[in-house]
Amino acid sequence: MRLALDEADRAGRAGDVPVGAVVLSPDGTTVLATGHNEREATGDPTAHAEILALRRAAAALGEWRLVGCTLVVTLEPCTMCAGALVQSRVDRVVYGARDEKAGAAGSLWDVVRDRRLNHRPEVVEGVLADESARLLTDFFRTR
Ligand SMILES: [Zn+2]
Repeated sequence: MRLALDEADRAGRAGDVPVGAVVLSPDGTTVLATGHNEREATGDPTAHAEILALRRAAAALGEWRLVGCTLVVTLEPCTMCAGALVQSRVDRVVYGARDEKAGAAGSLWDVVRDRRLNHRPEVVEGVLADESARLLTDFFRTR
């Protein structure tokens, strides 16, 4: 999560909403990929931290199935990212701050643990939540 926070900070300094993500290998010891929000930087509406990290992790593994992997992200995933997490078959999603307005991993929806889907990653929330939220609060305060 520290690494994800560093990524989030990088996004914030580039003028993007500070959200960062990291994908860990199945044994949890190797960082396969990192990503931070790049919507403003790239003009791509899908350039959320999680999507970029998932794409890079799949490229690193040479395979779209990220079975056994863990995605760590500073903010609760939105519906798009929650869908991508289910599609990628990651085993675990760890997030920092809850997103009461748009979160899709427990707050507004719970897409990742929807029993109607055939893959449901484990969810761990609230890891360094205060620090994750503070980055966002500080970012929007200075806007
Ligand atoms: Zn998202």
